[in-house]
Amino acid sequence: MTLALKQLTRQFTELAALDDVSLDIEPGEFIALVGPSGSGKTTLLRILAGLDYPDRGTVMLNGRDFLAANARERNVGLVFQHYALFRHLSVRENIAFGLRVRPRKRRPPRADIRTRVDDLLKRVQLDGLGDRYPSQLSGGQRQRVALARALAVEPEILLLDEPFGALDAQVRTALRRWLRELHEDLGLTTVFVTHDQEEALELADRLVVMNRGRIEQVGSPQEVYQAPATPFVCEFIGRTN
Ligand code: ADP
Repeated sequence: MTLALKQLTRQFTELAALDDVSLDIEPGEFIALVGPSGSGKTTLLRILAGLDYPDRGTVMLNGRDFLAANARERNVGLVFQHYALFRHLSVRENIAFGLRVRPRKRRPPRADIRTRVDDLLKRVQLDGLGDRYPSQLSGGQRQRVALARALAVEPEILLLDEPFGALDAQVRTALRRWLRELHEDLGLTTVFVTHDQEEALELADRLVVMNRGRIEQVGSPQEVYQAPATPFVCEFIGRTN
């Protein structure tokens, strides 16, 4: 089930946001996209999510054209830093949202949705808080609801853009460990955008270092730190360490 990205280019202005990006993401991998602001991380994630399209290039999954499938057909879960929850819906209703809006044929029966939401509440350790509204939760709890909502549709691929970016350091550290466990328990393939190198180091099987829309280096955290492939990687790691 390799997700194969080939020669993706996305151009908004003269400077390409993505410039000939190729990458194979293996099933079960936890990939961290790192790089300075404006290097194309979010653009790449949005293309995988079906929220944007490349001008050139392909993405294949199981030999099928991933880009031809619309966002709903892709079976991806999505969490953004400011991926606001629906304020007028309870935690339960937020989590169930992706299932309720499915076409009738693919919508699970009410009782099944309830069971699934119960399971997810346990998984994200929000047992007993299902009837609260987002305004009654802490920032960390809200991001866990956002994650539960993303997981409700049983995605094969989880896409996370700075999901803990707005949280304080202690909460971030706790959520980070928990996310890695969840990734393993559920057998997910996860692509995670972060500017926090410690986070990337601790979480990722492989780092993808981006700069000006291009991939500078792909490797295990150890490889990237011990043998930076380009002067940019060297400087980037040194600069923000
Ligand atoms: P990152 O996530 O690494 O900060 P982005 O993918 O958000 O980088 O942005 C890459 C480049 O593409 C930036 O120069 C940004 O200004 C540009 N860009 C992204 N989205 C748009 C858009 N919708 N319209 C115009 N330019 C954009």
